[in-house]
Amino acid sequence: MQAWQVRSPGPDIARALRRVPMRVPRPAPGELLVAVEACGVCRTDLHVAAGELPVRRPSVVPGHEVVGHVLEPGAGVTGFRPGDRVGIAWLRETCGACRYCRAGAENLCPRSRYTGWDADGGYADCTTVRADFAYALPDGYSVAELAPLLCAGIIGYRALRRAELPPGGRLGIYGFGASAHLTAQVALAQGARVHVLTRSARARELALELGATSAGGASDAPPEPLDAAVLFAPVGDLVPVALRALDRGGTLAVAGIYLSDIPALNYERELFQERTLRSVTSNTREDGRALLDFAAGHKLTVAVTPYPMAQAGAALADLAADRVNGAAVLLT
Ligand SMILES: [Zn+2]
Ligand SMILES: [Zn+2]
Repeated sequence: MQAWQVRSPGPDIARALRRVPMRVPRPAPGELLVAVEACGVCRTDLHVAAGELPVRRPSVVPGHEVVGHVLEPGAGVTGFRPGDRVGIAWLRETCGACRYCRAGAENLCPRSRYTGWDADGGYADCTTVRADFAYALPDGYSVAELAPLLCAGIIGYRALRRAELPPGGRLGIYGFGASAHLTAQVALAQGARVHVLTRSARARELALELGATSAGGASDAPPEPLDAAVLFAPVGDLVPVALRALDRGGTLAVAGIYLSDIPALNYERELFQERTLRSVTSNTREDGRALLDFAAGHKLTVAVTPYPMAQAGAALADLAADRVNGAAVLLT
């Protein structure tokens, strides 16, 4: 099979990845061998390719928004047959035994491993997944539309939960890429007023088309104080901006795995009056199932820019240069 590997992580994205022939992996006991049909291109892939996340597996195959079908269940797998459609996401496995796993916070498991970082992911013709970490997928979406749900959708959903938006509340969304455009729709469906703040004029247009209450520039003040905000842009400079936009008692959740440094905060302007700043770390399988259930019950508009799998390097370079509207998705 053909697969993309991160051969030389660094800022030159076009040179970081190389497409090479690889042997089709064998499913270990408890795993599924999956034929990839679509794989979303996530900003985390960019951080892996750029070397902003440390190398955990040399020459890793990136990609953790995988839609495919089962080719072969490994030994001991029950409940899956060849041909079944499955989704593969970022959280690859957890230990199941530590205090975090036992407390329903498997996203914090110190022994967690991640698809496309610790193990080969979906920028390939085939990949593997532990059967108990594979997701069933909702009907009513194309494979290209399903792929971004598996990270952009799930992480945004957890970030929205972490932001503790009250029913009918006022939500600010900073940055408006793949994850944000899905999260905005979830919040709107739950009755929120959504204010989108982003530097891209095309993204502001998309936000208004999807029903956002307002759309402004990245550092603009929203037209009303916010009960909650989610920072999707990996820009630490926006943390104080978003904190100042919160009403008393409001919460800002930072959705990304990577953020540039946060400048010094002024306690009175940015934190006092019980404003809260929180991070979001990966997700639990329960978050994943909840988002996919939500998508089954509410038809989400998934803005997709498709690329052939052979163009993965170009897709990543486009994402790095902010040339992608919605989500980039690789199709085999
Ligand atoms: Zn654990
Ligand atoms: Zn991701």
